[in-house]
Amino acid sequence: MKLVLECVSQMLNDPKLFCQKAYISGEWVDASDDQVILVNNPFDESIIGSVPACKAIQVNDAIESAQSAQQDWARMSSIARSDVLAAWYELICQNQDDLARIMTLEQGKPLHEALSEIHYAASFVRWYGEEARRLSGHVMQPDGDHRVVVLKEAVGVTAAITPWNFPSAMVTRKVAPALAAGCAMIVKPSELTPFSALALAALAERAGVPPGLFSVVTGDAREIGEGLLKSSIVRKLSFTGSTAIGKYLMAQSADTVKRLTLELGGNAPLVVFNDADLDVAVDGIIASKFRNAGQTCVCTNRAYVQSEVYDEVCLKIAKKLEGIIVGNGLDPAVAIGPLINDMAVSKVKSHVEDALSRGARIVGDELTINGRVILPVLLADVPSDALIATEETFGPVLPLFRFETEQEVIQLANATPFGLAGYVFSRDVSRAWRVSEAFECGMVGINTGAISMASAPFGGIKHSGLGREGGSAGIEEYLEMKTLHFHL
Ligand code: NAP
Repeated sequence: MKLVLECVSQMLNDPKLFCQKAYISGEWVDASDDQVILVNNPFDESIIGSVPACKAIQVNDAIESAQSAQQDWARMSSIARSDVLAAWYELICQNQDDLARIMTLEQGKPLHEALSEIHYAASFVRWYGEEARRLSGHVMQPDGDHRVVVLKEAVGVTAAITPWNFPSAMVTRKVAPALAAGCAMIVKPSELTPFSALALAALAERAGVPPGLFSVVTGDAREIGEGLLKSSIVRKLSFTGSTAIGKYLMAQSADTVKRLTLELGGNAPLVVFNDADLDVAVDGIIASKFRNAGQTCVCTNRAYVQSEVYDEVCLKIAKKLEGIIVGNGLDPAVAIGPLINDMAVSKVKSHVEDALSRGARIVGDELTINGRVILPVLLADVPSDALIATEETFGPVLPLFRFETEQEVIQLANATPFGLAGYVFSRDVSRAWRVSEAFECGMVGINTGAISMASAPFGGIKHSGLGREGGSAGIEEYLEMKTLHFHL
C-alpha cells in the first residue's frame, strides 16, 4: 500500500492536502481504536489510502467542541465571518488542481469534470460568504401600541451527511451557508470519497475557521449517523443521498425534533417537442444524461421525444455518442469515467437487459462493460413499463420513449413518486411555460440541461426531498426566527 500512497502524494502540488486522518475539534486524529477504512480508485480498484473508522465517542467529542466554537462564532460580526469564508474560497481556488486530482482518484470522474465541480463547490463558499453580510430580520408595521420585531438567529450545531457523486460540492453547499449563518457543522462524508471533504477541511483550517466549528468525521455510516442523530445538541441535519436512507434518517430525527434538509433521489423526465431546436435539445440531453457517467441526481432518467422528430433525435444522439472515449478519469482524452462500484454496474446491466426483454432496441454500440467502465448506451422504443422508466439508473444509459400529445407526456413525466428535476425543449414559449408548471418537481430546465448554480434554489418535492440548498433560501435553512413583541 505504501507504494500507492507515495504515488498519490507525488501527484499533488501540495501533498499535505491528501489527509488520511479525521478532523475533529480542530485536531487531525486517528480512530480511538486505530481502525481504518480503505479507499479505492473506482477505475482500477487500487487502494489509494485509508481514513480512520471513528467511533461514537469521537462523534461526541466533535459535537461538544462544535457547541463551544459555535457560541463564539455566532457572536462574531457577520463581516468577520464573511472574511473567513472569503479566505477559504481563495484557498480552494488556489489549490483547485490538487482538489480535482484527489476527486478523480477517489470518485473516478474525468479531471475536467472534477475541476468544474471544484469551481461549483467554491462558488457556494463565495456566494454564502457574501450572503452573510446581508442577513437581517424585519420590523412589522405598528399595530396600535404593539410593536413586533423578528430576529434571525443561527440554528446552532448542525450535521451533514454527504454522498460520493459530488464529494466536494455537496460539502460546501452545506458547510458554507451553515458557517455564514453562524452555525457549526459536523460532516460525515461517504466512506467511498472521504479525501475531498478532508482536503476542504485542511483548507478551511488554513483559512482561519476556528477549531471545532467544522469537523469531518469519517467512519461507519450507521455508527456516525446514530451518534449525530441521537444528540439533542445537534439541531439540524442536512442530508444528500438516496431516498431510502433519507427516510430512515428522517425517522431517526423525530425523537430530537431536528430540522431537516433532504436532497434525495430523482427520476428526471426530459421532453423534446416537435417544434424544438433539435441540436439544442440533443446537446441538452447529452449534458444532462452523461455528466459524471450518469451518476447525477438531476440526470435525465427518461427522455420523451414527440413522434414526428423521434427518429431524427435518435440519429443525432447516436452520432454524438460515436467515438466517446471512456476510461481512466486522469486521461485528458476521457469523457466518461468508471461507475463508483460493482453494484452500480450491475444495476445498469439489469436496466438494459430488462428494457431489451420488453422490446427496446440498442442504437449504436452494444452494452460494453470493462470492469466498472461502461460505453454510453442509447435505448430506443423503450416501453413505459420498463424498470428504467420507474427507477433511477445512475449510469450512462439513455432510454428514449415516444409520445404523441402534450397532455400524454405530462402524465408520463409525473408518473413517479420522485420530483427533483425536469427538462423541456420547445420553441413555443407558451408550451414550455405550461409544461414547466405542470411538471411535479422542484427544478425545470427549459431548453437547457444545466440547472444548478450557487445563487439559485436547488431541491425537490415528493420523495425527492425537503427544503432547498443554494440561493437565499439555502441560508434560511440554518436560521431560526425569534419574534419579539413590545408593548409601548
Ligand atoms: P446513500 O447510500 O444514501 O449514501 C449517502 C450518504 O449517506 C453517504 O455518506 C452514506 O455513507 C450515508 N449513509 C448510508 N447509510 C447510512 C445510515 N444508515 N446512516 C447514516 N448515513 C448513512 O446514497 P449514495 O448512493 O451515496 O448517493 C446517491 C444518491 O444520492 C442518489 O439517489 C442520488 O439521486 C442522490 N443525490 C441527490 C442529490 C440531490 O441534491 N437531491 C444530489 C446528489 C445525490 P457511506 O457512503 O459511507 O455508506
